[in-house]
Amino acid sequence: VVNLDRVFDVSAPFLNRLLYRQGRSYLHAVNDVSFEVPRGGCLSLVGESGCGKSTVAKLVTGLYLPSGGECRFAPGKAGAPLSAQMIFQDPYASLNPRWRVKNIIAEPLRELKLRRNDAEIQDRVGELLGIVGLNVADGDKFPHEFSGGQRQRISIARALASEPEFLVCDEPTSALDVSVQAQILNLMRRLQDELGLTYLFISHDLSVVRHMSDRIAVMYLGRIVEQADTEVLFADPKHPYTRLLLETIPDVNDPNRNREIVAGEVPSPLAPPSGCTFHPRCPLAQDRCGSERPQLRQMPDGACVACHFA
Ligand code: SF4
Ligand code: MG
Repeated sequence: VVNLDRVFDVSAPFLNRLLYRQGRSYLHAVNDVSFEVPRGGCLSLVGESGCGKSTVAKLVTGLYLPSGGECRFAPGKAGAPLSAQMIFQDPYASLNPRWRVKNIIAEPLRELKLRRNDAEIQDRVGELLGIVGLNVADGDKFPHEFSGGQRQRISIARALASEPEFLVCDEPTSALDVSVQAQILNLMRRLQDELGLTYLFISHDLSVVRHMSDRIAVMYLGRIVEQADTEVLFADPKHPYTRLLLETIPDVNDPNRNREIVAGEVPSPLAPPSGCTFHPRCPLAQDRCGSERPQLRQMPDGACVACHFA
């Protein structure tokens, strides 16, 4: 389905859910998840591990097939199908340790026949290494000769080799030290500007996505509980879960602030709580929350929130 305004749209009315079979139970890993990423923009999905954000990433890139629902992409350059690439959390696991870096980056160029001969391929590999801040000589090395941050640069160069317009980035910096994280995030923002990329960015950490995102969707147990423009979400978070996530961000001006805010464990997605699935952990829960599931409602400032009392 073509929608010229949007890069894609995972639409709730078509019942998006993915069932994982685990023993005799079925897990609705993702339910009624709906969002749009405008071309050239960045939407971030944020939530604790197990909330379904990686599942959404794999659905969007076609690594998983949904049992219902659809992802719609606007056409890419010159009317061709939009090309998407994924950047994974673990640059150690996603690079073939036996291959020299130049061959890792050259593979998509060869596979997709994007260059005519070896000389052109080597030129392009050198260019891609430069784009991510590495040099041509690095192409002769193996992945283990690089630091975590440099390996993530290699992953990005490989992802860019096929000239994608859309990048799905699943926790691309969470395996890295904080200082290195900032460098990789800056690189990704620069590449977004220079190459006109569109991002779906996935993280468990709201502070990481703050400066990347135009819009943020907060997920809890397979559902989006709040979605808002970035400034709106930070200035006026409306869902109790979003507020708790924001309170766990360390504040340099107030090191004593309590970072252990989100009480309790994430419930098993195999047996999600009744009503509002956040109710066992919610400081504002009322009787009604245990029986009635709140629907996403649109607020006057454009935020969408699933809470009876938002
Ligand atoms: Fe908390 Fe109730 Fe709102 Fe759920 S619906 S977030 S339990 S107040
Ligand atoms: Mg994950």
